[in-house]
Amino acid sequence: MEEARPELDVLAIAAHPDDVEQTCGGTLIRMAGLGYRTGVLDLTAGEMGTRGDPELRLREAAEAARLLGLAWRGNLRLPDGRLENTFEARLKVAAEIRRLRPRAVILPYWQARHPDHARAAEIGYGACFLAGLRRVETDAPAYRPRNVMYSSVYARVTPSFVVDISEQFDRRMQALLAYQSQYGLPDEPSALFPDPEEIRERLAALARYYGNLIGVRYGEPFVTREILRVDDILALGSPSF
Ligand SMILES: [Zn+2]
Repeated sequence: MEEARPELDVLAIAAHPDDVEQTCGGTLIRMAGLGYRTGVLDLTAGEMGTRGDPELRLREAAEAARLLGLAWRGNLRLPDGRLENTFEARLKVAAEIRRLRPRAVILPYWQARHPDHARAAEIGYGACFLAGLRRVETDAPAYRPRNVMYSSVYARVTPSFVVDISEQFDRRMQALLAYQSQYGLPDEPSALFPDPEEIRERLAALARYYGNLIGVRYGEPFVTREILRVDDILALGSPSF
């Protein structure tokens, strides 16, 4: 999906292909619909997954990218299942950030059940910082995104804000189901690989919960470390009643 003009408005960084399709894919679809250039950098190819193989998952990721309306999707092929927050990993991600120059970066929430997700958050944040240091040399000039936000759908925290994805939910679901190797009907359904209907119900329940917090059908939650500034208190997105 490499293109001549790589500059992005929004870049989501995730541990595995199929992560953003569960966490912030609706927001990416929405932003693309608003005319912004969106991209996803997956850190691993998910080669530790029980089903499918990395090449198949990368092909599925490309199909999901098309459904998400991404302008760019890349994969760093760092080791799945044992992501480590090393200088080398941060430098690789920083080099991509400098090349892509996203204005905003979306990361997984920093506390997660899957260690790779927590490491992806640390690597991503460290990389954004590193990318802005002039003395750190990569093949592109120093650059730091203006905003970092954490996708918190699987975290037990109060979101800083929720994005309305009512119109985008179905397409996000299609993008997730593009990973046929992960979400296709298995020979024997199990707790680890539930069928697509079960997955849809789970994700709809989560999206419905967060949507309800802002008075819409489906939503995706985010956490920011900084307090959000308001310049016009009449322009708040959520009504009180
Ligand atoms: Zn994952």
